Amino acid sequence: MTDIHTHFPRPGIPSVVDVSGRVDFMGSEHEYFTAGLHPKSIAQDWEQELSDIERLASLKGFVGVGECGLDKYAEAPRDLQMEVFMAQLLLAQRIMKSVIIHCVRLYSDVMSLIRKTNFKFPAIFHGYNGNPETTSQLLKLPNVYFSFSISSFSMPETSGMKSLPLIPPERLFTETDCDRSADVAEVIEKIAAIKGITASSLQETVYENFMKIVSGR
Ligand SMILES: [Zn+2]
Repeated sequence: MTDIHTHFPRPGIPSVVDVSGRVDFMGSEHEYFTAGLHPKSIAQDWEQELSDIERLASLKGFVGVGECGLDKYAEAPRDLQMEVFMAQLLLAQRIMKSVIIHCVRLYSDVMSLIRKTNFKFPAIFHGYNGNPETTSQLLKLPNVYFSFSISSFSMPETSGMKSLPLIPPERLFTETDCDRSADVAEVIEKIAAIKGITASSLQETVYENFMKIVSGR
């Protein structure tokens, strides 16, 4: 089992820990981590924070920039969100790292910024809930991945669930995000059931995906 995006790592489960907002962090605490500027908490001195993140990026275990992205319900104006997200895509591009994307109902804007920056490194949509139409558009971009948590299955049929049949296992991740009681094994089982494959083969593929991202291969 693996956890591509968590704020509360579990012992024994290889995890990418989001340390955003704690940019004084020195990298020794977690094997793998990311840091970024979340669209819901853009500070006035975000440019300073971004250069702090760039310094973290040279530390062992730094996997990528994020979570970062666009959120329809964030307080920050859309153009500021776009500016901050674009700066993070450009940073990730420059340091040749992945991005962990937070996107709420602004998928077409996220896609246009990925295209505009010509971003080629892995772009992982965490807590993915895009509909099938969005998903097929995203799959046309290079290196796009989709991460699911147990809350992706909280309702009888979410957009994310409807998209799962379109997403090849090579593009999938599991995560716990902020949920301290969530279990990635359950997510594997739910996805496998929808896709009609065995949990063990899905688990193996998701593990390979995880290792590919954390090793920067
Ligand atoms: Zn998160």
